Amino acid sequence: ACLLPIGSLAQRSTPIYKNQSLTVSARATDLLSRMTLQEKIGQLNLVTFVNENNSTNPMDDKVKAGNVGGILKSNGVKQNLRIQKIAVEQTRLGIPILFQEDVIHGYKTIFPIPLGESCSWNLTGISQTAAVAATEASAGGIRLTYAPMVDISNDPRWGRISEGAGEDPYYASLVAAARVRGFQGKDLTNANSLMACVKHFAGYGAALAGRDYSITDFSERTLREKYLPPFKAAIDAGVGSLMTAYTGIDGTPATSNQRLLKQILRKEFNFNNLIITDWETIKNLVKIGVAKDEPSAVQMAIESGIDMDMTSELFQKHLATLIKTGKVKIDVINAAVSRVLEAKFKLGLFDQPFKYLDEAREVEVSQNKDHLLIARQAARESIVLLKNDSQILPLKKNVKTIAVIGPLANRKKDLMGWWGGQYSQGKPDAVISLLEGIQKTVDPSVKVIYAEGIKLDGFEPKGLELIPAAVEASLSADIVVLAVGEEYWMSGESGSISMLNLPGAQLQLIDALAKTGKPIVSVLFNGRPYDLRALSAKSSAVVEAWFPGTMGGLAVADVLFGDYNPSGKLTVTFPYNTGQIPVFYNSKRTSHDLDSVDMKHRFANNYLDITTKPLYPFGFGLSYTNFSYSSLKVVSGNNFKDGNLQVSFVVKNTGEREGIEVAQLYIKDKVSAVIRNVKDLKGFERFSLKPGEARTIKINLTNQSLSFLDRNLKEIIEPGDFELMIGSSSEDIRLRHDFTIK
Ligand code: BGC
Repeated sequence: ACLLPIGSLAQRSTPIYKNQSLTVSARATDLLSRMTLQEKIGQLNLVTFVNENNSTNPMDDKVKAGNVGGILKSNGVKQNLRIQKIAVEQTRLGIPILFQEDVIHGYKTIFPIPLGESCSWNLTGISQTAAVAATEASAGGIRLTYAPMVDISNDPRWGRISEGAGEDPYYASLVAAARVRGFQGKDLTNANSLMACVKHFAGYGAALAGRDYSITDFSERTLREKYLPPFKAAIDAGVGSLMTAYTGIDGTPATSNQRLLKQILRKEFNFNNLIITDWETIKNLVKIGVAKDEPSAVQMAIESGIDMDMTSELFQKHLATLIKTGKVKIDVINAAVSRVLEAKFKLGLFDQPFKYLDEAREVEVSQNKDHLLIARQAARESIVLLKNDSQILPLKKNVKTIAVIGPLANRKKDLMGWWGGQYSQGKPDAVISLLEGIQKTVDPSVKVIYAEGIKLDGFEPKGLELIPAAVEASLSADIVVLAVGEEYWMSGESGSISMLNLPGAQLQLIDALAKTGKPIVSVLFNGRPYDLRALSAKSSAVVEAWFPGTMGGLAVADVLFGDYNPSGKLTVTFPYNTGQIPVFYNSKRTSHDLDSVDMKHRFANNYLDITTKPLYPFGFGLSYTNFSYSSLKVVSGNNFKDGNLQVSFVVKNTGEREGIEVAQLYIKDKVSAVIRNVKDLKGFERFSLKPGEARTIKINLTNQSLSFLDRNLKEIIEPGDFELMIGSSSEDIRLRHDFTIK
């Protein structure tokens, strides 16, 4: 008499975890309760195809046995589809694989390296390239990217400085949040989104002497003032996962650092999402000598809060025994597995495991026209004009003869940078070299002569015999465009160098070309600040193009010939020479600061042989037009602590071309309980002005703009005197205003 309709019977027998209308946490809890210990441990195992033969089956078998939770460095949509089918259709619970990848600055379409892109100060643009990268990568089945990298570094010898957003914690925090928003979009179940993984927690950028993986050693204050803010910003922006650093803090590796992971990350920052190790960092606990053997390393890592083990496969090897012998509690494993499952539920992987694995979509979205346009725009905006004597730039498109010289003038792969060139799915052939960019841009009547000049192949000087031909080419031309810098592999991970001189025989080439007396426009392709004194002294113009990605050559040509008025501003200081390192604008005040003593004074905080001033400061970048600043007004509420400070000023384009300016607001705390920085960026505005156009720029300061960490590292606002500075760079301050907080 009580016949149930078929639908509700089916519903009843559908396990809770498969019910799409329930919450992520309810579904994960249900699934967890159905899992064996072996299946649980499998979810924590993040494995790689590196070292595996793609056509054989070890990976397939591992997946079939339920021993894999995630895979990185796989090989495109076909392979991923095959494996996902095994996971979903041939394992007991059908838990999908979470494919992960280093989608750092593009997947197929390559954008400028992150440091370069940060020089655009265009947060919307930065989100947009992340969103495009997410679209392309998710079409290949990737669902999580190991980005953004948010490590602050003050050491350009460290090759990974190229992956960050420069030296300022405030600005880097905004970039971190913009990238997270770009990758993740509004809804992680959207086929065009990737879960972001902020890395490397924390302080990795302080590697001693710029040598990658070196120990770091800094105070709790520095950790909190400099290194943590971008992580906090990424977390506040909803980042879905986080990666620990290779390095450690205060004697404890990040991967076994309970204070860092449990106290700061989970408790203070309220981060409840997935924590992944970096490559084999669990194994490294043994290598580094804080764990006596593999099982102890595993115990240390899991008890410190690690969820997924990247590539050491030691969780897989030892966790079961550790549980059975009572050394590790099952609750600890359950918590980690829940976070992996929750990530997969959030990404919609259970509901539509194959939605992302679509070869047709991959073809459709890969390097399509729109993406290439965005790449060109991103590359243009990341370019920083460092020098432009007697307005030699922009060049005329009908100049008679141009000599395009230099080892990087016709390189393609190098323009992709380390992640782009080595690991992305981007094709070097698709890159537009500078020579090609120039040829496509100039009038057909222009004669473009190309000479390599020297061979750039590592650090040794090579190809000096090519110099005479380059000199000859230059002599026959009206203008020399010289492309120098570094090869793509010289920056990036383990790309540490000891001297910031341009590698190989590039300086010899510059010397020889300078002797021709022809005007030289130097274009730099590189991932880090270099010592540019010699190059700059011998060039009429210097264009910092970074590793600009797929559309790099065209974007540089756009700037050279004035189709784009350069607008980038440095987010990292360019030192005067290597010995000045670390040199950064937001350093602590000293009693002997240069502006408080006579420059020539012996007892200044200076070197005897060189200045302490960098060659090019933070925030610096030229335009083809000029901007004047005036009418600074600061209106404060009655009680700053309840309100904010409204700053306004007028910027006028006084030149003849439309241009973009990035106006920067800095604060100096005149008297405070602890030594503070000489100045700190607290706001900026990027805007475009037509010739003659003036605009009132408004920037609101909040309580946070004036707060700092007191002696007990508690955030406070102290009453007292402050100086507000508005500048076109951190050194080029145009307007000043003193104010008092009562
Ligand atoms: C790097 C990470 C990267 C990982 C996976 C590591 O060596 O430090 O930044 O995400 O490899 O490729």
